[in-house]
Amino acid sequence: MFSQSVVHWTSQDAVQVHLDPLHIPFSLDVLEEGSGIDAGGTNTVVRCELKSERACHLKLLWRVPCSSLGRLLNVVTAADVLLLHGDTRSFGPGEHSIEAVYQGEETLEEPSLPRSHYPLVAVVEITAAPESPSSVVALVAVIHVRDTHTSMATSVLHRYVRQADGRVTLLQPLYSSAEEGGSEPLGLCSVCQEAPAAVVLLPCRHGCVCRACFARTPTCPLCRGFVAQYFTRSL
Ligand SMILES: [Zn+2]
Ligand SMILES: [Zn+2]
Repeated sequence: MFSQSVVHWTSQDAVQVHLDPLHIPFSLDVLEEGSGIDAGGTNTVVRCELKSERACHLKLLWRVPCSSLGRLLNVVTAADVLLLHGDTRSFGPGEHSIEAVYQGEETLEEPSLPRSHYPLVAVVEITAAPESPSSVVALVAVIHVRDTHTSMATSVLHRYVRQADGRVTLLQPLYSSAEEGGSEPLGLCSVCQEAPAAVVLLPCRHGCVCRACFARTPTCPLCRGFVAQYFTRSL
């Protein structure tokens, strides 16, 4: 005979993790319109928007072998960035429209899948000395450029940030209902629609419940995913 037992999982079994918020002084986004590998594969244009709070360098590296991304993320210092082949531009604080034009001799379009190169990697690095060892000093955006193999749009595949002490972190999105640019940074709880959605559930990364509703919700109310860990965001 088998004995049976039932384990009741509630969100209270989830482990709270403490995460330090990281201030990222810049952002880089790709504008799909007008971006793509052209028919000949040579005059490719990618339009981007750079926002920076600080003076920075932007280095545009074309046709980066996928196998060398790790090295690029870990050893790049301000001086190294200037040494890498590529187009380097300097910007002051503010918003800047960037037109990145590929002028290399080899075609960006790869002959077959799987692709072996990232068509474009943008490295943004602040010019001034970091304020502290934990300050974010660089952003590395790995960019896919639309080609003929798939219909995937020109877009940023991954973003990494590097802190002054050398730590490299892959940025992952949080999914919350907060409207971008709205005055309410957290959005409202998807259960009670009243309190701020201060609790972010992991691994699904939905920031969708308030503290009170989280205490009585065994699974994520949006995706019904199992909640292994959570963290809270300040109001
Ligand atoms: Zn609630
Ligand atoms: Zn979820």
